[in-house]
Amino acid sequence: MEQRKNKLMLMISLLLIIGFGATSLASYFVSRSSLRDQIVGRELPLTSDNIYSEIQRDLLQTIFISSLMANDTFLRDWVIKGEEDEQQIVRYLQEIRNKYNAVTSFFVSEQTRIYYQAKGILKKVQENQQRDIWYFRVRALTSDYEINIDPDMANNDSMTIFINFKVFDYDKKFIGATGVGLKVSAVKELIKKYQKDYDRQIYFTDKQGNITLHGSNLINPDKPITRMKEISSIADEILSKSSGCFKYKRDGKTVHLNTRYIPEFDWYLLVEQTEEKAIKQILHTLLINLAICAVITSVVLVLTNLTISSYQGRLEKMATIDKLTGIYNRQAFDMIFHQVLQDIQRKNFTLSIILFDIDRFKNVNDQFGHLAGDAVIKNIVKISNAAIRRSDVLCRWGGEEFLILLKKCSLDDAYTISEKIRDTVAKTSTVYEDKKIIATISLGVGQYRPFEKEDIFLSRVDKLLYKAKQNGRNRSEKEFS
Ligand code: GH3
Ligand code: MG
Ligand code: MG
Repeated sequence: MEQRKNKLMLMISLLLIIGFGATSLASYFVSRSSLRDQIVGRELPLTSDNIYSEIQRDLLQTIFISSLMANDTFLRDWVIKGEEDEQQIVRYLQEIRNKYNAVTSFFVSEQTRIYYQAKGILKKVQENQQRDIWYFRVRALTSDYEINIDPDMANNDSMTIFINFKVFDYDKKFIGATGVGLKVSAVKELIKKYQKDYDRQIYFTDKQGNITLHGSNLINPDKPITRMKEISSIADEILSKSSGCFKYKRDGKTVHLNTRYIPEFDWYLLVEQTEEKAIKQILHTLLINLAICAVITSVVLVLTNLTISSYQGRLEKMATIDKLTGIYNRQAFDMIFHQVLQDIQRKNFTLSIILFDIDRFKNVNDQFGHLAGDAVIKNIVKISNAAIRRSDVLCRWGGEEFLILLKKCSLDDAYTISEKIRDTVAKTSTVYEDKKIIATISLGVGQYRPFEKEDIFLSRVDKLLYKAKQNGRNRSEKEFS
């Protein structure tokens, strides 16, 4: 019974553990793969789009301002008049710089080659000077302007967009270059935010793979991606496609990379994210799920155990105890008797039995009713129980037949007990619904003979009971010793 219970409990726990475990793990893997899809398919491209549109915004604004300057009649007139009052142009450039919060504003005259700034005259540009090359490049342009990105020179590390616009006089003759430089602050802010909130890495490279702009925690910003250990194998592909999705490993972690070519800068925008941080959260959820499963499993097991134990107890009681009298039934007695006979083989003690039957019990039932008969049975059991020791066993042998097992009790002692019970029963009436019912019993008393078989012993005592009935009832018969 206990073994079967343990087996059941094991089965239930296995079922719960497997069931819960499988669903938790399944949902973990599903979330993981959907998370991966989300990073690759949505988040990285979206980040890249956002950054690109910020760049466009900054760029358009800067182009607009520079274009206004290039077409300003004041500027053109001032040049045509011979660049007489230096203060006028300086004030003009100051105005522009302050109004648009620019890093710089400038005009370079073709006539005098003077480089004017908001702070005054900077210098004269010269064709053979490395730093002045830009002017001559602009001068030679077929288009009206060029975009020049200067990431480092201006304010430490901040990317600056210079728009260099050509200025013409009213006869379409080239008279100089003007424009503003603006900080790409919005892009910087975006990069910072993505880095902080999503653990995303954002950086730009030029066509050769040199990193031109990056967030604060890029591991190796000085190395071109073509020479970065983890990414070098896919660098050529990145630098040849206008956009792409890539995957590579860094420190054992999977990095998803989204790339995009930005034609205005001639740069590549790279947005990447490791999945580990996001997966950690799912893993956390998995652990919480498993912990809840463990708690539920334990609770279910405890409840099952309690329920089974309680039913088991009730079943055992039902199987061994007689409902009417509360004493052992014949089934229980058989086991006890068997056990006692085994004990005798080892310990060698005397054992006696009293078997008794109520006299003319049919009459009691007929005269007073079945329930009255039950009351009589209960009363006789009560009397018998009072007459025996705790170590003796009283059992309901049949309908109104009872058996008493008396351990370490000789035939004569058993006979004495038998007579005592008989006498008490005969003198005690059972009161049922104001009626007094007197019943008597007949008893057979026998002592166990060594190595005697159970049924032989019982049939000997049964014969003695029959003899008591024969000899007039309300008496005890013992065998001759
Ligand atoms: P005898 O002296 O020869 O034993 O006569 P008797 O009438 O007692 O005969 P017997 O022992 O054969 O009868 C048993 C009767 O006891 C028959 C049955 O209806 C009744 N009986 C058996 N079990 C119960 C019980 O639990 N309650 C009641 N009220 N009657 C029972
Ligand atoms: Mg009887
Ligand atoms: Mg009987």
